[in-house]
Amino acid sequence: MRFTNVRNLPEPYVRAVINDPYKGGGDISVTSLIKPPQMRALEIAHDDEITEDVADRVWALLGQSVHAVLERVGDADAFHEERLSMPIDGWTVSGQIDRYVEDGSLIDFKVTSAWAMKPGQPLKPEWAWQLNCYAQLWRASGFEVSGASIMAILRDWNRREAQRNDGYPQRPVVLRRVELLPPDEVLAYMRERVQLHRQALAGEHPPCTPAERWAKPDVWAVTKKGNKRAAKLCPAPEEADAVASQLGERTGKPHVVTYRPGESTRCEHYCAAAAFCGQWKAMRAEQEAAA
Ligand code: SF4
Repeated sequence: MRFTNVRNLPEPYVRAVINDPYKGGGDISVTSLIKPPQMRALEIAHDDEITEDVADRVWALLGQSVHAVLERVGDADAFHEERLSMPIDGWTVSGQIDRYVEDGSLIDFKVTSAWAMKPGQPLKPEWAWQLNCYAQLWRASGFEVSGASIMAILRDWNRREAQRNDGYPQRPVVLRRVELLPPDEVLAYMRERVQLHRQALAGEHPPCTPAERWAKPDVWAVTKKGNKRAAKLCPAPEEADAVASQLGERTGKPHVVTYRPGESTRCEHYCAAAAFCGQWKAMRAEQEAAA
């Protein structure tokens, strides 16, 4: 993979991004294991052709800097940034947890948006699997695991928003527990992922699922005529038409229905292999034909 610097960002930043010491380990890391197999296989196959702009690494760099600073926690009864590995069906799976305390609790640090940690917002499934896979690595190395949590540093937390909105994280740093699944279930998941990644490397790419593509479904927006903000988003046009007439009658103002096509956020913005992905090309062609 090659880096570009199309926005002409300052040299020290560019060098900090390029000189990333991360090496992974084993045949596959936990973070790659939970990735879509098609995405990883395409990234490997097109490594020489893939480019990424350094400007797109700003959050990743910030995340790394936070990890480096949090190593200062420095308590004697904890391991920090310990990389462990275990064999699974002929592959070595490795993973590095940010913190393991001797009472058996695991913590992974994340730098993320406040939105991702809103009260009641379900935890991203990939984070839950990531922590469960780390738990399995520690168990396989003979350690007990009694709990797992994500400590999220909210990069865009806003004090005013917290004051006026109870549904917004009330603190800029949030600790969220992750449910530990039975070890048999986690091991079965890891074996299945190894199998899928192995097949993908052999050219049998299972298509990325809607969840893996971070897909948002098509919606029909009902808005007051002249407004941009939707009064309601409906999953079907018939429902949107009914809501528009109800709102029109109730408020005495005409409401209109607009189709908003769904989006595969990961394909659109966060997949380095998108330019080489047949699935994504076909989806785009379909969208263009429907537009
Ligand atoms: S572009 Fe989308 S469908 Fe294709 S590999 Fe990436 S995430 Fe999967």
